[in-house]
Amino acid sequence: MTIARPCPLRTAILARREELVLLTQELIRIPTLNPPGRDYRRICDFLAARLEAGGWDCTLIRATGSPGDCEAYPRWNLIARHKGGRAGDCVHFNSHHDVVEVGHGWTRDPFAGAVEGDKIYGRGACDMKGGLAASIIAAEAFVALYPDHAGTVEISATADEESGGYGGVAYLAEQGHFAHVDHVIIPEPLYKDSICLGHRGVWWAEIETQGRIAHGSMPFLGDCAVRHMGAVLDEMERSLWPLLAGKHTDMPVIPRARALRRSISTRSTAAHPNRPRGSPACPPLRPRPLPHHHRPPLSDRRGYRRGQSRNHRPARTRPRDAARIHLRDRDLFEVLPSMTARDAPVVRTTAQAIEAVLGQAPRYVVSPGTYDQKHIDRIGKLDNCIAYGPGELHLAHQPDEWIGITDMVDSAHVMALVLQELLA
Ligand SMILES: [Zn+2]
Repeated sequence: MTIARPCPLRTAILARREELVLLTQELIRIPTLNPPGRDYRRICDFLAARLEAGGWDCTLIRATGSPGDCEAYPRWNLIARHKGGRAGDCVHFNSHHDVVEVGHGWTRDPFAGAVEGDKIYGRGACDMKGGLAASIIAAEAFVALYPDHAGTVEISATADEESGGYGGVAYLAEQGHFAHVDHVIIPEPLYKDSICLGHRGVWWAEIETQGRIAHGSMPFLGDCAVRHMGAVLDEMERSLWPLLAGKHTDMPVIPRARALRRSISTRSTAAHPNRPRGSPACPPLRPRPLPHHHRPPLSDRRGYRRGQSRNHRPARTRPRDAARIHLRDRDLFEVLPSMTARDAPVVRTTAQAIEAVLGQAPRYVVSPGTYDQKHIDRIGKLDNCIAYGPGELHLAHQPDEWIGITDMVDSAHVMALVLQELLA
């Protein structure tokens, strides 16, 4: 591929810079909070109106019956399609339209889309309405320059990625909406100079210990659930964490500090006074990776599909008075790692485009958390998928989240060049 700099696509995208900023602001101003799944229909209607006016075919799809779908908060998705005049591949840009809760610490209105210098602020600016806007501007610029392009360009805006994607990409994949797709780019915020090949696996589980309630003046009649949880944590310190510390992955996971992480959070402590015997203490445990004796190495991705066991359990503990301890554990959420090969067509094409735009070879990275690639890979059976988009991963879900305008312009240029290479 030979791409001159400056190229007509660059000119076309620079001419749309203000439009890109405005579109990002408009998307931020629709507060698609998840939970509960607010304004999904509104954002799909907004995007459909824009794209239909530009000659795109738009389909709204409600993920009826998916988790959280109800009359108050229906799970709406949009697929927009631009067919060219000739046979060719289908290139699909997928963005989630939901955003996480606002949280504390904001110094700006999270739904105003304020522009300050080169930054646009707002919940979802980085994750990932900036990426969604960049892909739309890229596709519109490409279609304007190549109205008679080959194949099909698709843009989807999908629900619920922040809660697992079951009312979004998983549902669309189950309904066969990726069957005809050849290349997928997910503009998640993973740096404009990087190609994200996939994501790490996840395992969330919950451990509950139970005690027995007693009057505070007669503690010897009760049994302390917190103490039993202490024994569970103590056992984890002694045997599980050392195992995890010795576990490595060949995947280029970022940030590089430690490839494997585990964390624990508590939901409640001790016996609630209104609860009878068997009051729970301290669920949910979230040790994201797994004890290595339960699983093959992370890099052995394909083996997971065939050989995985569904019933992983954390190391059983043997606290001092084990006979009296009630311990329950339960799997909450499990995702297998996903990684696209570096020689896959969408990877090679995007690498060339990054080199043309930024004058440097791309970094190849793997996301520390999952995103919708898992559903495209596993349910859609499509390996030719990456995340590539503007924004800095560490800003996602943070107060005063922002997206860089220059980064969006450069990423849109990269995405438009990918379309030019694959479909012009
Ligand atoms: Zn995201």
